[in-house]
Amino acid sequence: MVRIAVVEGDGIGHEVIPVARSVLGAVRPDFEFFDVEVGYGRWERTGSACDSGTIADLRSADAILFGAVTTPPDPGYRSVVLQIRHDLDLYANIRPVRGEGFNIVIVRENTEGLYSGIEWRESDRACTLRVISEKGSRRIARCACTLARQRRHLTIGNKANVLKSDVLFVDICRQEAERAGVPYETRYIDALCLDILMHPDRYDVIVTTNIFGDILSDTAGYLAGGLGMLPSANIGDRYAFFEPVHGSAPDIAGQNIANPIAAIRSGVMLLRHFDDTGNAAAVEEAVGKTLAKGIRTPDLGGTTGTREFGEAVLRELSHGT
Ligand code: ATP
Ligand code: MG
Repeated sequence: MVRIAVVEGDGIGHEVIPVARSVLGAVRPDFEFFDVEVGYGRWERTGSACDSGTIADLRSADAILFGAVTTPPDPGYRSVVLQIRHDLDLYANIRPVRGEGFNIVIVRENTEGLYSGIEWRESDRACTLRVISEKGSRRIARCACTLARQRRHLTIGNKANVLKSDVLFVDICRQEAERAGVPYETRYIDALCLDILMHPDRYDVIVTTNIFGDILSDTAGYLAGGLGMLPSANIGDRYAFFEPVHGSAPDIAGQNIANPIAAIRSGVMLLRHFDDTGNAAAVEEAVGKTLAKGIRTPDLGGTTGTREFGEAVLRELSHGT
């Protein structure tokens, strides 16, 4: 048995995750799913969004399928996703962006940089410390090089012309790329954000620091048809966590109109994590065939509901095999 923790979270997480779960269940009868409740809904009900018991439940799983959680502006509320990333040491955020003629994977450092959490106010200034460590850079560089070795080449996204901390980041990435025998180039992040839209076919694996990766991958999301299409993985040395790039989208929650493709594709990444390339390809193909028949949720210009899209994918899967 492979034990999969399922966190629906909040908002459209309650709609897209059940679809992803039923697709995974259809191809992997050996998956044993168990629910873990996390998020704002739980906080409103119990006063706690996530506690040490929750973290222990997540750690006990072989992988985690996660929806999205709402983070309210409430000052007493700590972001659950940041806590989970920290407690499970999920240092690599992997975001594939694919479409006609391009196939890019953005590898974003997930634990340091401008999201170090080291922040303070002093008289008329507010400061956030950007920490880039050798250890943090090396492990993300190795992760990116492992991917790039199975693919084509590596682009190191940076701003080393301005930031000393990025000089360190680039140095370490170069060392690891040379050690792994991976062809690489360095690009300034601002120019890269434009060029990825103009010439997406030029890019393969891109490694970059925390906030740059966040911005770059949302920018690149435009290429893939929007937020409803983009999956991601958060990986550490021990734990693996799969979630759509989008958030809980409270504006469309509860209406059965959310696009479940990002969640289904997060499930595909989970299958690949277990080296199940056969089922991963089968699910991808089923999604592609469903779209090709014109079955689409409203964000893609269609009229199909979230659940009905999921049922159509399941039908394709049962025909295909
Ligand atoms: P959160 O605070 O949880 O991130 P948000 O309001 O920022 O919530 P996002 O989920 O980040 O919302 O989405 C931004 C916009 O993109 C939303 O207005 C939503 O309508 C749209 N969107 C996001 N995900 C999907 C999806 N799966 N299908 C359709 N539209 C989506
Ligand atoms: Mg958002």
